[in-house]
Amino acid sequence: MTEHPRLGSTVLGYPRIGPDRELKRAVERYWRRESSADELRATAVELRRAARAEMTGLGSVPGNTFSFYDQMLDAALAVGAVPPRFAEFAAGDPLDLMFTMARGAEGVPALEMTKWFDTNYHYLVPELSPDTRFRAWLRTALDDFREALADGVVTRPVLIGPVTFLLLSKSTVPGFAPLDLLDDLLPVYAQLLGELAEAGAEWVQLDEPAFAADRTPAEFDALHRAYAHLGGLSVRPALLVAGYFGAFGPALPVLASTPVEGVALDLVAGTDDVAAAAGLTGLRDKTLLAGVVEGRNVWRTDPDTALSRAAMLLGSAGRVEIATSCSLLHVPYDAARETALPDELQERLAFAREKVAEVILLGRALAGEDVAGELAAARAVAGRPARRDDRVRARLDALGPDHYRRPAGDVRAKAQQVALTLPPVPTTTIGSFPQTGAIRSDRAAFRAGRIDAAEYERRMRAEIARVVRLQEEIGLDVLVHGEPERNDMVQYFAEHLDGFATTEHGWVQSYGSRCVRPPILHSDVSRPEPITVGWSTYAQSLTDRPMKAMLTGPVTILAWSFVRDDQPLSDTARQVGLALRDEVRDLEAAGLPIIQVDEPALRELLPLRAAAQPAYSAWATDAFRLVTGGVADTTQVHTHLCYSEFGDVVGAIDALDADVTTVEAARSRMEVLDVLGAGVPRGLGPGVYDVHSPEVADEAQIGALLRAALDRIGPDRLWANPDCGLKTRGEPEVVATLRNLVAAAAGVRSGSSG
Ligand code: GLN
Ligand code: ZN
Repeated sequence: MTEHPRLGSTVLGYPRIGPDRELKRAVERYWRRESSADELRATAVELRRAARAEMTGLGSVPGNTFSFYDQMLDAALAVGAVPPRFAEFAAGDPLDLMFTMARGAEGVPALEMTKWFDTNYHYLVPELSPDTRFRAWLRTALDDFREALADGVVTRPVLIGPVTFLLLSKSTVPGFAPLDLLDDLLPVYAQLLGELAEAGAEWVQLDEPAFAADRTPAEFDALHRAYAHLGGLSVRPALLVAGYFGAFGPALPVLASTPVEGVALDLVAGTDDVAAAAGLTGLRDKTLLAGVVEGRNVWRTDPDTALSRAAMLLGSAGRVEIATSCSLLHVPYDAARETALPDELQERLAFAREKVAEVILLGRALAGEDVAGELAAARAVAGRPARRDDRVRARLDALGPDHYRRPAGDVRAKAQQVALTLPPVPTTTIGSFPQTGAIRSDRAAFRAGRIDAAEYERRMRAEIARVVRLQEEIGLDVLVHGEPERNDMVQYFAEHLDGFATTEHGWVQSYGSRCVRPPILHSDVSRPEPITVGWSTYAQSLTDRPMKAMLTGPVTILAWSFVRDDQPLSDTARQVGLALRDEVRDLEAAGLPIIQVDEPALRELLPLRAAAQPAYSAWATDAFRLVTGGVADTTQVHTHLCYSEFGDVVGAIDALDADVTTVEAARSRMEVLDVLGAGVPRGLGPGVYDVHSPEVADEAQIGALLRAALDRIGPDRLWANPDCGLKTRGEPEVVATLRNLVAAAAGVRSGSSG
């Protein structure tokens, strides 16, 4: 017998940026002081109302899925976790405090931002210390609940769960673990839950995705204490604890033994939790949400697989309802608007709107309603196969181990020394130069047909020539063409490879007001013709110095696209790798002596559980080596990594076997070399110029960083370069800093030889 209120089919969350990025526009207008806080709030009311309308028909509509910036920041503000440096802003409009914590202010650095699990969404990292005093502060969730209620909708407020909140926070005091604050935090959650119950909330969803990763016994214990405590409250809504981005695994028995009324399982990630649930008597009186509609990819759901997975739970729980595997935050709004796509692709797509309809249909089917006709229609589109390219498959089948291998690194280093004649501590950049307004408007004019291909090519070549001259004049050793022709490092390749599509309206939030439009990798991948060879060859023709050609690697292309789910990611990665291998071979044949393959997302796709990591590292590095494994010893392969801590992937970075690896390092003051120095025994270019800051680093600063690097790895394999591409920076600061970088490298050279 289940005594709690019925939950009904549902989604774990909904996009909030608006179908046409209304939130981005409104927020940025407010930042530019072109609108008032009231106007911004009015836009938010409309967006929330529209989202609720889209979710009509679900058994339970999630609430509090809106955020002006980020849900973790909202959680910090809900429990009053405002670091002392923002105290002076706490007296004003909370909206301004929130934006200041997100973006910083003069002399007040913002909260750190980092990737949300293995997605391309970024959250703000709450800062906690032993001095943090939690209190129920912003009532965003309560206000949202009341707003919906006034519209006649009893929502299910969604909050970040207390354990995940603490586990994702960072300590500002060495040796202190935020989880130690659990007992202080729980009363605040209790108060917020009590207020929601009094306002009429029947259910509240508490997200605990931190348990999709490996956890310690102390952390499982914290999970138990948290939900034993919250479950024991006398005034509270029914509690739904949601896991996503993977199975709950060992956390499931822990939750089963607490008084919570519901548990949401990610069944797209696998059926491990289904088998485990069968043995847990604690689940018998709970509601289980079967997360069978994928929340973070764009494909139609196969109704048979989904229903059979959900049905497997039936004997284990008091009730089973259909849900998405995670929040729909990670998919765009409406696939029906993508009318420019070929029909056979468009029909296979489900964005948020279509996924809501799928959840409703599957919910009706699970409840025993006769929906055979609708299920048959759903089955027909979901079963439509991707386009196969037998030539690509045959080429991949014919590959042997030699296609992935190069001779030993020291043999290559000698050959390259002779071929390239570079000085010690060579200077270079990561690829892009500032994307000026003129370049962007040229690209837009070409897209809109206002200038023809010949004129576009002439303008881009002029920019390349300008950037090459500039680099020669600055005195850099290894030059780049500057990437003016690229809108985005992944989209550019997606547009030039077969097997990808790009959308018109498929925006998803990356962080704050920044949105991206990921390409859709839908079929077998191949390269119809050379992509970058013309630009790089032209650039090399202008100079005697070595030109470095620039490609985006297979892992990064997959990480920042929606990918096929009908074959293992490793197979898709090999197809992309093979297409890029063709490009590398053509670049080499055209005389480019150095080729860089960027893999900034290598760390991002690393599986959350350790057991799955070795297999990932193996296929990810294989895909990279397929790209680069065919070149001569004299051709120097570079790779570039950024946006992350590299400690967990040193082995994979080494296995890429690049001749030179450039990494983000300026903010960590070369500490990254402590792990990479020994782990990656070839060329290393720790960034000595923080491209996220508009400040001009002076020669002394850069020199100090280079000497710190020299102390760690010596002069023979050290490179001097910025942290990342320069496309977001202004030209004057770039020129000034690169001059200082060249001077600092020269200083270090004479110092280390004399
Ligand atoms: N080559 C790219 C650039 O310079 C690399 C960007 C990145 O690492 N994110 O822009
Ligand atoms: Zn980078």
